[in-house]
Amino acid sequence: MEKILLKNIDNPDSAGIEEYIRAGGYKTLEMAVTQMTPRDIIDEVKNSGLRGRGGAGFPTGMKWQIASMDPKFPKYLICNADEGEPGTFKDRPILEKNPHLLIEGMVISAYALQSTRGYIYLRGEYPLAAGILSRAISAAYGKGYLGNDILSRRFRFDLYLHRGAGAYICGEETALIESLEGKRGQPRVKPPFPVNAGVWNKPTIINNVETFANIPYITEVGGKTYSKIGSKDSPGPKLFSVSGKVVKPGVYELPMGITLREIIYGHCGGLMEGRTLKGVIPGGVSTPILTPEKIDCQMDFVHLSKVGSLFGSGAVIVFDDTVCLVKVYERIMQFFEHESCGKCVPCREGTGWMRNILGRIGSGGGTDEDLDTLEDVAKNVAGKTFCPLGDGAANVTLAFLKQYRDEIEYHVKNGKCPVDGLPHKDNRESHGGQSAPVEQT
Ligand code: SF4
Repeated sequence: MEKILLKNIDNPDSAGIEEYIRAGGYKTLEMAVTQMTPRDIIDEVKNSGLRGRGGAGFPTGMKWQIASMDPKFPKYLICNADEGEPGTFKDRPILEKNPHLLIEGMVISAYALQSTRGYIYLRGEYPLAAGILSRAISAAYGKGYLGNDILSRRFRFDLYLHRGAGAYICGEETALIESLEGKRGQPRVKPPFPVNAGVWNKPTIINNVETFANIPYITEVGGKTYSKIGSKDSPGPKLFSVSGKVVKPGVYELPMGITLREIIYGHCGGLMEGRTLKGVIPGGVSTPILTPEKIDCQMDFVHLSKVGSLFGSGAVIVFDDTVCLVKVYERIMQFFEHESCGKCVPCREGTGWMRNILGRIGSGGGTDEDLDTLEDVAKNVAGKTFCPLGDGAANVTLAFLKQYRDEIEYHVKNGKCPVDGLPHKDNRESHGGQSAPVEQT
């Protein structure tokens, strides 16, 4: 497949504006502002079938249409570059090696949505990308692609880089808005949705880095042509960040709808010699794990939900038979516990309890009741939290319990790990967490 999002990134100067222009960059912006109306661009995005690449998969054209119909001004444009979930690093190549593709996509989007001000909310732990983006924004101002009177079309758009401070929850769009406004990064009640009442209560269109990076190509070739790439329900190219036990981990640009088998055994070179596949997390740690017999599933928003998981951000994490999944899930729960913003009780307490129970089981102190208690806690978190973080933590625990119960029971019964024959190190106190319930009440 022709590279669209990662085009030219092997060139050492790919992040520079001169190289980007030499390779045909910003031509689509010129074409858009001289030959298309804002309505034309929104129609092309709707025709493309593009769905947001940040995890939720909401149709981008529909979001844009709702925002464009809101009579309030100013309208704000935000790029969510706060990718912080373990295993997710698919936006990095765009931010670090193709920043002008993102900027061009944002300026075309601003023209379509009549937005005059935009922000790139960048993950705090991406210092390299921060420097590259700052220089790219300055260079785009220098060439007249940002600022007043862009391309002499009396169209103005100012773009700012805003760095986060390391909180995963600020990837949730309303927490991101709170943080951008200088407040504590915690989710807001929805509705109203940001598209009508976002930053400073004004219409705000938030899209992911990869979503914006698709806009120049859609504008150039038209939505219908774009929609022929990938699967029918989820068209377009997709960046997959693949990590774990494969021969060639990395970021791959592949069509939506490709199977996990093709990704793992085709593009990533398979597993290490002599190893067998134990499980795959298909879309980041907030998506339920899949057992090996499900790897022929197509990777898109529709098919993964049919096999009990979610597409998420396209962060594929591969486990082989050398990996203890109880240890993995204790670590995942430690992440969710640490990143829970604390606003709602089920998430704030439940993530700690789930981590603690998994830690107790792994370190050899588990009891038969622990599996039921773990399930009970997860069920009392799922569907009872304010934002998807709590749901994600609970649902991945329930899927793990269902799919890998034998492995958990082995730890309880034998007091040691089936992979290396030893109990895990007991990390519970060092996490500073609260006690887990030991019996159901
Ligand atoms: Fe905060 Fe968790 Fe509640 Fe989300 S679910 S608002 S992260 S406490």
